[in-house]
Amino acid sequence: MQKKIVSEIVNLLKQLPGIGPKTAERLAYYILENESLLVNLAKELASVKEKVTKCFLCNNFSDTDPCIICSDKNRDKKIICIVEHYQEMYAIEDTGSYKGLYYILGTAIEPLKGKFPKDLNLDRLINRLKNEDVEEIILATDLDTEGEITADYIKNTLKEKGFDKIKFSRIAKGLPYGFEIEYADGMTLSYALKNRVQV
Ligand SMILES: [Zn+2]
Repeated sequence: MQKKIVSEIVNLLKQLPGIGPKTAERLAYYILENESLLVNLAKELASVKEKVTKCFLCNNFSDTDPCIICSDKNRDKKIICIVEHYQEMYAIEDTGSYKGLYYILGTAIEPLKGKFPKDLNLDRLINRLKNEDVEEIILATDLDTEGEITADYIKNTLKEKGFDKIKFSRIAKGLPYGFEIEYADGMTLSYALKNRVQV
């Protein structure tokens, strides 16, 4: 019986990125052995679906809609920074050097992983651009092949849709290939944003 309970937890944990069967098993036993962790985890996970929503403007996870960033009157609404995932938005937020708004794609174009241009959900961004007076879009996808393809696709699509007065910029060139925003240190990331180039 106990083995069955553990294997059910292991099967769930294995679905998380970066968690193999061995780690999943170790985590499962750890959770079961720590009663307060087990209780709190169960409580939080059960209520998170009701508490958390996605901001209709930027796709950020939030308990308010629009999120705290989109509804902040002190932010510069003329700049939107497009990132692949919300972790990257938080990495940029942590630098404290960016005061514009965001749009989170949720993915880059990665055909090998079954992610195509339609998965970027650009329609919502396009609707937003029609209603807002945006002057600049910072394409802050990763500096790898997928990130470059995604940045080019977004720029070309938005230009085709008639947003040709918007200035498009890319986080600094010259950074190493494969530069990942999520893992960059604050200084490098601030540099990458400050030294963005028009594309
Ligand atoms: Zn938002």
